[in-house]
Amino acid sequence: MKQIYACPYQEEALVLKSLLESAGITVELLSGGKLDFNPLFDVEINGCLLRVPDEFEADALVLVADYRRTRTDAAAKAATLAKPLTKPLGNAGRATNAADQFAAPAADADGTLAAATIAGLCRVAELAARQAVAHRRALHAIPEAGLDLPDTVAYIRAALQAAGLQPRDCGHGLIADVGAKGPLIAIRADMDGLPMAEATGLAFASRRPGFMHACGHDAHSGALLAVAEQFASRPPEGYRLRFIFQAGEEGFFGARHMIDNGCLDGLSAIVGAHVGDLSEELGPGQAGFMAGPMMAASDRFEASFTGSGGHGSAPHQTVDPIPALAQFVMAAQVIRSRQPDQRHPLVLSICQVAGGSAFNIIPDRASCLGTARTFAAADQALLRHSLEKAGHGLAAAYGLTFQLNWMDGYPALVNDAAATGQVRAAVEAAFGPGGTRLMTAPSMGGEDFAYYLQQVPGCFWFLNTQNPAAGIVHPNHHSHFTVDEALLPRLMLGNLAGAAALAAAAIRG
Ligand SMILES: [Zn+2]
Repeated sequence: MKQIYACPYQEEALVLKSLLESAGITVELLSGGKLDFNPLFDVEINGCLLRVPDEFEADALVLVADYRRTRTDAAAKAATLAKPLTKPLGNAGRATNAADQFAAPAADADGTLAAATIAGLCRVAELAARQAVAHRRALHAIPEAGLDLPDTVAYIRAALQAAGLQPRDCGHGLIADVGAKGPLIAIRADMDGLPMAEATGLAFASRRPGFMHACGHDAHSGALLAVAEQFASRPPEGYRLRFIFQAGEEGFFGARHMIDNGCLDGLSAIVGAHVGDLSEELGPGQAGFMAGPMMAASDRFEASFTGSGGHGSAPHQTVDPIPALAQFVMAAQVIRSRQPDQRHPLVLSICQVAGGSAFNIIPDRASCLGTARTFAAADQALLRHSLEKAGHGLAAAYGLTFQLNWMDGYPALVNDAAATGQVRAAVEAAFGPGGTRLMTAPSMGGEDFAYYLQQVPGCFWFLNTQNPAAGIVHPNHHSHFTVDEALLPRLMLGNLAGAAALAAAAIRG
């Protein structure tokens, strides 16, 4: 099936069409009059079932369809959850008092943002909502993995330029600044997908076999792009914003490339968020915060035993690495449960074992791959040295050689306590009572936002974008993963309120 996008309004459809075309995709535009809202439905778009024509020549079909009129109950419920952010835009979505929308964020003595500041940012999120969905879907269809994301970067660059911004290349990604003076606060979105097949069945599912946006980075980038468009013509007054679009978050150290190329230069603070289901403590639409350590250091290792192979019927003529590897896998479980302080959060998992090629051939070599997730440097060192000792001991016992290749991953993500308090207070004010939660347990996942936080104060937060009523329940990195698009305004508003709070704090000094 070719790619199908639905946009509620003609103007959005035209923007999407030009963006797709600038990425080399041929597009056919079809307006609502030709669409069939009858029971012979072919595709489901955002909870609405549409019939689309069988034949079209272009790579993509952009439908102008007000699908929101025919949302299912589930989607309507999702919209309710996100209230008041997704209420109809009215007045064709144009701000009437644009000049004071983004004025310097005034903060009360206790650090909370003024109500007028929050209201202005709510309005921005409302204005950007439709574009956030359109961008997210366009990016979702063209997932790329790793550091080099040519089509994704081209799409984002084209949209930023179309909005009148001047994006700059920076370490495999892009940055764009708005505002004339005042403290500079960054909002970061990652852009990379994953090398896995998508099974969501969404109308805008991946067009690239074997690649998928299964971690919501399409939502991060789509939402930030929509925000950037809003600020392009009406920059903030009294503070500046930097939009960071980063590649290679999924294990490729993309943040380090950005930092090496100056993305943090001049920054006072940084904020970023992750969608999906990253904490059991959060309900749909809820934002989660944690001062201090929030996500684990994520190292990986390969352990290998080498002996000499031979016939499976004559093990005495071989030095068999398989039993040693099996014992090593079990030793890792004992190391995990006996050696580190059991009150510390940490994980040691062996996730892949390899060795041999047939039922009757003893191999020369057997190996395994695993990951260690820790918060304390001492725990990290302990696990590494214990695995080394166990492997060498087993190898010595059985006449094998052993090698442990340890690859340091991202460091633990440690939120600045003051920044986290400021951002959380602003997001709570923006979302309403109960919209945020202070989490008690950290995530054992890794995140290279940790590198930014090593250099500038800031806050990383989670937004739960599940919607059980709409069947949006799958975890990040699952082939059915998706996000509730009705919550994208919350993603935008949370980052904007957080950035404004950090700007207010910087102005206060
Ligand atoms: Zn992710």
